[in-house]
Order: sequence, then structure tokens, then C-alpha cells
Amino acid sequence: MAIATINPATGETLKTFEPLTDDVLEDKIARASAAYASYRRTSVQDRVGWLRAAADVLDADTDPVAALMTTEMGKTLTSAKAEVAKCAKALRYYADHGPAMLEPQHLDAGAVNAQQAYVTYQPLGVVLAIMPWNFPLWQAMRFAAPALMAGNVGLLKHASNVPQTALYMEELFRKAGFPADVFQTLLIGSGTIERVLRDDRVVAATLTGSAPAGQSVAAIAGDALKPTVLELGGSDPFIVMPSAHLDTAAEVATTARNQNNGQSCIAAKRFFVHRDVAEEFTRLFAEKIGELTVGDPMDPATEIGPLATESGVQDVHDYVTDAVSKGATVVVGGKEVDGPGWFYEPTLLTGITPEMRLYAEEVFGPVAALWTVDSLDEAIEIANSHPYGLGSNLWSEDEGERAQFVRDIESGMAFINGMTSSYPDLPFGGVKQSGYGRELTDLGMREFMNAKTVWVG
Ligand code: NDP
Repeated sequence: MAIATINPATGETLKTFEPLTDDVLEDKIARASAAYASYRRTSVQDRVGWLRAAADVLDADTDPVAALMTTEMGKTLTSAKAEVAKCAKALRYYADHGPAMLEPQHLDAGAVNAQQAYVTYQPLGVVLAIMPWNFPLWQAMRFAAPALMAGNVGLLKHASNVPQTALYMEELFRKAGFPADVFQTLLIGSGTIERVLRDDRVVAATLTGSAPAGQSVAAIAGDALKPTVLELGGSDPFIVMPSAHLDTAAEVATTARNQNNGQSCIAAKRFFVHRDVAEEFTRLFAEKIGELTVGDPMDPATEIGPLATESGVQDVHDYVTDAVSKGATVVVGGKEVDGPGWFYEPTLLTGITPEMRLYAEEVFGPVAALWTVDSLDEAIEIANSHPYGLGSNLWSEDEGERAQFVRDIESGMAFINGMTSSYPDLPFGGVKQSGYGRELTDLGMREFMNAKTVWVG
């Protein structure tokens, strides 16, 4: 994939970049390694100051950075601004809470015949972050804020279609006053990742993206015995039981499926509705999906912009065509929007059967698939038959159903009466083919730390 900014709203190529030469790449890795040697010794208070400064820089840069993201991958300008604000919040979260997370954890010294026994949390070194385009600032920030708080150094290999946002990330930390080279962007293709990952100066990797990319990175890292965190795909279930407030559930379902133009790993993608309320919920859901405004992502009135890539539109339409050819019903939407750019109509499909490709795969676009079920057991059983297990949603006022859902749903996150969201204050991650490890909170920060046991006799 060429490293380029291509506006998805028009299909126009605006800027292309040459990948780094071997010499420049070598120089950047060497500089990252040298930066780590001194950065790991910086005080926690200095890091807190730099994180707060980075949050202030982001606040000041909101308008141009949001416009850049919209231009590179098509999210609405309104949601791009919200993404910038969330990144500033994450930086401040780690500035506020990071120092306590880095405190040593004292253990029972008497039990091990010691004067003192404790665990001290230390950084690991240079970490490679391989990131996707869908939340181009947030995905990278979810890694960067805790990593820099911990004393690690970051190398970012971002998706090839968001190079300018990737370069902005490096500029942001420089502008905030962090020591030189503690966060660098590598403009490289995915074919060069193995060379970076096998380098002895790179100690770990995190990847957010597709399952095939995760498999490749995990295989290389496994061979080189380096830890990884993987945040992969999702096809989150959204279960609606008879006690749910249907209008609110349909409203949130519409946002949950169509946020970010339908391209979110934690978007609700499969809707399981109890037979008693299926007809009414389907009517409300279809009505709200049909009311979404599709158009120019720069226009504040627009709710759904284009998909990020031309191949993305084709992939989505292939899933819909396949399902319809096998008996699915298009309740609303179901085709590309005529004209320039890569727009797809927000779509609702019913009559889903296991033969359809979208049954057990992930549709990365604004297509909701709806099942009618007879019980919570049935909803959970079909939901769990999917290879992914990222987020999940239940709408119910029944305590027993909620407890069953939390106990039995195979997912890393369970949201009740709300949609799955990523907050700086909550751990984020999945199980099964959705990956492993956690991001955010203390769990995310400690993924790339050495929990060193200290015994003093
Ligand atoms: P990709 O996996 O193609 O790309 C993600 C990143 O991985 C990019 O930087 C890409 O580089 C790189 N990459 C691509 N192929 C390989 C490879 N073989 N080895 C190493 N790195 C590789 O995903 P998409 O960009 O298509 O993003 C959509 C997918 O990501 C969906 O499945 C989605 O669910 C998942 N995702 C998961 C999230 C989560 O938090 N769990 C969040 C967002 C998306 P390049 O661009 O140069 O190809």
C-alpha cells in the first residue's frame, strides 16, 4: 500500500511519501535506543509535566489536526474534534494517575524472611506500535500516553493512509518538550515491520488492526521472544430483551453501529432482539438508520462520511450482496451512494443465516445484521459462536439477565444499557480472535513494564 494521503470524500490523492531508506530507519532506531538510556532515568514529575504540556498542545491544535484526520480517512469533522479531545483527556489521565501506578507495591516481608519485599515497576525500552487508520490519533495515543508515562520510548508505524496524522504525533511530543527521539514516526510499509521487530534494540510490540496482521506480528515476536499486545477485530453483539427501553436502545444501536462511518472495531455489528419486541425494535432501528445524513464529512450537519478506502466500500458491498443472494432482507440501505468518493448507505439486514459470510466475519462499514431470538440463552449462544470477542452489549432491566450476560458472554468488555466505548479510565481489550492484553488504566501501562521483585535481607 502506497504511503499517501488520499481524500476518501473525493478519491483525490493529495500527498505521497517515500518510505524511509534503510539508512534513515537504522538511524531512527539508534536514536530511539539512545533516547531510552536517558529517558528511563527522568523523574516521574518531569514526565507528568510533559504529558500535561502535550495535552495543552493538542487543545490548541484541535482544529487543524481534526481537519487533517477528516481529510486522510473521512471521519466527520465533529467526531475528529471529539477524538482530539479524548486524546488530551488520556494524556491528563496518565499525568493524574500515572505516578500512583508507578509506586512500588510492598509485600509481606516477614513471610519471606526479609527486611523488605516489594515489586517495582520499570520500563522495558523501545516499543514498536503498529496502528490502524480508523481512529488515527486515538489508537496511537492509547499506546503513547501510558508508554511515555512509564518511561518507555515509542516507534510508531502507522497505517499507510494516514501519514500526515502519524507525523503530527511525533511533532506533538516534540512541541510538548519531551526529550528528543522518545517518540518517532516511521514511514514504512508493513513489509519492513519484521526488520524493526527483530532488531535487538526493539523490545516489544503492540498492534491494533486486523487478525492477519496480528498473526504475523505475534509470530515474529514469538520467534524473537518479545511481548506483544494485540487489539484485533470485533463483531460485537447488541442484545435487546423485552424489558429494554426500546426507543433509547434503537437510538444507541444506530450510533453504536454507524459511529466512525461504521468502521470501529467496537461497533455493535450483530443485533439479537427478543421475539416479543423484534418487530417494534426493527421498525425503530430502521427508521433511525434511514434518517442518518450521509455526505461531506467536513459539514457539521453530516453524520456519516465516506469509508476510508475504495477497497473498503467494495468489501462491504460484497458482504451485503452475498447475504442477499442467500436470503437476507435489506430493510434499509444496501448500496453504494452514487457520485465521487467512497460512500455507502447505512444498511439494516434481517434474516441472517450461518451460510452468509457476514455471519462469522466482520463487516467494517455501516451494515447492521439483525437476528430475532427466543431467549437470552439463544442470543448468547449465537454471539459466542463468533471467533471474535471484543466488546458486547445487553439492553435489559432484569438483574438476572444482566448477571447471566456478564457471566456467559465471551468478550473482553460487557456494557449494559449503553454502547461499548473506549474511555481512558477503563481497561480496553478482547479475548479469542480479538487479541490479548489490555490497553489503558494501570493494566495497559504495565503490559510494557518489568514488574521487578525486590527482596532485601
Ligand atoms: P490492517 O491490519 O490491514 O492494518 C493495521 C496496521 O497493520 C497498519 O499499520 C498496517 O500497515 C499494518 N499491517 C497490515 N498488514 C500487516 C502485516 N501483515 N504485518 C504487520 N502489520 C501489518 O487493518 P485495517 O487497516 O484494515 O483496519 C481494520 C481492522 O483493524 C479491522 O479488522 C478492525 O476491527 C481492526 N481494528 C481493531 C481495533 C481494536 O482496537 N481491537 C481498532 C481498530 C481496528 P499498512 O497500512 O502499511 O498496511
